[in-house]
Amino acid sequence: MDAKVHTTLSKSAALFERAQAVMPGGCSRNTILRKPHPIYAERGAGCHVYDVEGVRRTDFANNVASLIHGHAPPAIVAAVGEQLRKGTAFTVGTEAEIAYAEHMCGRNPAFEKIRFVNSGTEAVMASLKAARAFTRRPKIAKVEGAYHGLYDYAEVSQTAKPENWGQPEHPSSVAVSRGTPRRALDDVVVIPFNDVERALAILDGNRDQLACVLVDLLPHRIGVIPAAKDFVRALRRWTEQNGALLVFDEVITFRSNVGGAQQWYDVQPDITALGKMIGGGFPVGGIAGRAEVMEVMNPLNGPAPFPLYGTFSANPVTMIAGHTAMELYDREAVDRLNALGDRARSLIGEAIRTADVPACVTGRGSMFRIHLSAEGPENYRQAYLSPDRAALLSKFVGHLFEGGLLVVETGTGFLSTAMSEQDVDDMAALVLDALRKIKP
Ligand code: PLP
Repeated sequence: MDAKVHTTLSKSAALFERAQAVMPGGCSRNTILRKPHPIYAERGAGCHVYDVEGVRRTDFANNVASLIHGHAPPAIVAAVGEQLRKGTAFTVGTEAEIAYAEHMCGRNPAFEKIRFVNSGTEAVMASLKAARAFTRRPKIAKVEGAYHGLYDYAEVSQTAKPENWGQPEHPSSVAVSRGTPRRALDDVVVIPFNDVERALAILDGNRDQLACVLVDLLPHRIGVIPAAKDFVRALRRWTEQNGALLVFDEVITFRSNVGGAQQWYDVQPDITALGKMIGGGFPVGGIAGRAEVMEVMNPLNGPAPFPLYGTFSANPVTMIAGHTAMELYDREAVDRLNALGDRARSLIGEAIRTADVPACVTGRGSMFRIHLSAEGPENYRQAYLSPDRAALLSKFVGHLFEGGLLVVETGTGFLSTAMSEQDVDDMAALVLDALRKIKP
């Protein structure tokens, strides 16, 4: 496109025009889209992002929870720089992969063995395939509305709406991507979040066919509300009694504790899907679990029941970055970040009371979600936003953005260790401002 055309546009608007000419929607991931156009990062440092217009914002989005130490943390930059000079990808193994696997297995006794992949989507896909290979059963169960990435089976019910709730044949399982094979929909059993009785009744109906039950303990799309202890324990008991596996998706929630949110529950899953923060800012996924189950990937004694390949899996740059990030995220760092999260939720609560608008805050650990309703949701159907509620939220997030704050478009924030109490206090002041602006 002619550069002159752009002279009257802001840099970001001009970039978006160029982007739309070559990418559907002008992007590779819909996450970056915002109206009237996305912003484009020039650089990030600590908890700040500087865009191409020179505007600085405090980053509570952290690449959707994947940057636990903020932007360009010196220790990771140094470690990665060294690895870059040595080479970035090989068709042979590296010690970096082994050392990182040892570190991760040391973080949680439920991680007897681990493998690395390239994204959370891949980690969930590998977990479901491992469960099917181990149990020799076809079906998986998941919680209604929960997001687990792009795998056909994991997507089911992600976009459930009132129009398709309760359809007799496929409750809330209308295809997310057009053309998803009917067979994939048939093989997914959808259970309600935190409703033990109904969930178990649905699982009972599929007793001999379920390979696993997949759960996120603090699901983002269900309002960042914690899974209830009795729900998690009931799923653990049911899976044990019925020959199915329990899979936790800790792609986001691993930040909650040294060994993930599962340590809040005292429940060990058979498999944990990992991603985001364990890459130290680079693309990553991980599947960790019981050695006996993980054996399905082992090709040393004959063909693996689940052969797991991946050209870039465990590339040394990601391994070094992730390992450095996770070593820095020790008990002390976790506790400090979770305390900062408590402070954030408490100050947001105060801002809501001061503004006197119907709103509330949910979350746990280093995650928060602001809801523009007096009560938080208890399940996906309550968390679902009608178009007018979605429009109000978008306006509110727009005000935060204008004020210099980046949060996820759902009103969710993820803290990083690069933040201070002052950064959290400033965030709460901006929340108060934005709430006042949307006050009816
Ligand atoms: N699982 C959860 C809980 C997620 O939040 C996400 C991404 O947001 C994924 C899986 C998919 O991860 P990725 O985007 O790395 O494929």
